[in-house]
Amino acid sequence: MITVNQTHNPDLKSWVNSANLDGCDFPIQNLPFAVFRQKDTNEPFRGGVAIGDQIIDLQTLYDTGLFTGKAAQALNKCCQPVLNEFMAMGFEYWSALRHSLSDALTETSEDQKVLQNCLIAMTSVEYDVPARIGDYTDFYTSIHHATTVGKLFRPDNPLLPNYKWVPIGYHGRSSSIGISGQKVHRPLGQTKAPDAEVPTLGPCKRLDYELEVGIYIGSGNESGSSVALDDYQQHVFGLCLFNDWSARDLQAWEYQPLGPFLAKSFASTVSPWIVTMEALAPYQGQWTRPNSDPQPLPYLESSQNRTTGSVDMELEAYIATAKMREENQPYQKLSRSNFKDSYWTVAQMVAHHTINGCNLKPGDFFGSGTQSGPTPEEAGSLLELSNGGKEPITLDNGETRTFLKDGDAILFKGYCQKQGSDIRIGFGEVTGYVVPASS
Ligand code: CA
Repeated sequence: MITVNQTHNPDLKSWVNSANLDGCDFPIQNLPFAVFRQKDTNEPFRGGVAIGDQIIDLQTLYDTGLFTGKAAQALNKCCQPVLNEFMAMGFEYWSALRHSLSDALTETSEDQKVLQNCLIAMTSVEYDVPARIGDYTDFYTSIHHATTVGKLFRPDNPLLPNYKWVPIGYHGRSSSIGISGQKVHRPLGQTKAPDAEVPTLGPCKRLDYELEVGIYIGSGNESGSSVALDDYQQHVFGLCLFNDWSARDLQAWEYQPLGPFLAKSFASTVSPWIVTMEALAPYQGQWTRPNSDPQPLPYLESSQNRTTGSVDMELEAYIATAKMREENQPYQKLSRSNFKDSYWTVAQMVAHHTINGCNLKPGDFFGSGTQSGPTPEEAGSLLELSNGGKEPITLDNGETRTFLKDGDAILFKGYCQKQGSDIRIGFGEVTGYVVPASS
């Protein structure tokens, strides 16, 4: 189990001054990973670590020869355009690099001069999807989302009987996962109005976002083996923000009996930054299950999962319509929720995914499912916020929305922060733009 150590010390400050400012997403306690290059160039993408408003170019750092041992070996793998090989190395190597970076960035470090030459301002870079995602599984771990959506799709039977026993998921499409800033074409598809005799083909009319946490698998498991619940931190590299764009009208017509297909496969967007599980250790806490609910089967149950299975990660969804952006209005918040309210933990997702012997591979990706909280205001999708499209939301500028219109931008933010603490382990942002259907 990952323990809290000197890299988490809230008193640590960096010689990169912007990292010490209140409200900064990327203090020295965070050190998340991305792949980046200078904007508008053909440079190869390579690994970077965020510190304040700067990025440490891991290729340049590797070339200095400053780090040794496992940290240097890890750094070598971070020089590639995707982080799969670094992810495959496992926790010991991820942690060795984190500890060396923490030491080198501390305000008293003698390595400041060397590191200073490895910094690039975040404002001058662009990002790519940080891993070659082989397989992508989307879970459905918020019981609040599942119940509300279930009521809309099946008023008499909202929560199916397997929900409280199985971390429900389906196999998603990885080719259409894009990086923050992604332009999302309104998908075409079949829809059928309840009173229509036959379906028709046309642009989706009920385009939605889903506020999710993304989970990157680091080291995998052999086919035929499974990952024990308490071993998940050896296999999970880190978390990010994830928008699982959804076409609700396509979904309603196609989803039975095998689940979502074209309603989900046209686009999903990840944030550039992956916050490692080690950085999140101080924010993991109790996971509970109401006594009146079925308790998990033994392979999904442990005292470690009960005491540290949840992640106290605040999630926020914002919108900026085309009109708002033209008039330089800021993004408007639609909702907030917290990943700690999830019905299933990351450990349970990994243990369940592999219990049948399914092999996970480095760079595989899970979506947590839409994270909606216990109150209606904590809904992680427009489907829920507009009560199935029946109650439009009025924005501050007077515009209304049930579902997304062309030109809308959706932004998610996320962070972990203890009450009374200045330290914020931020996830940065993920944005995406709705553009008209392409034909
Ligand atoms: Ca989803």
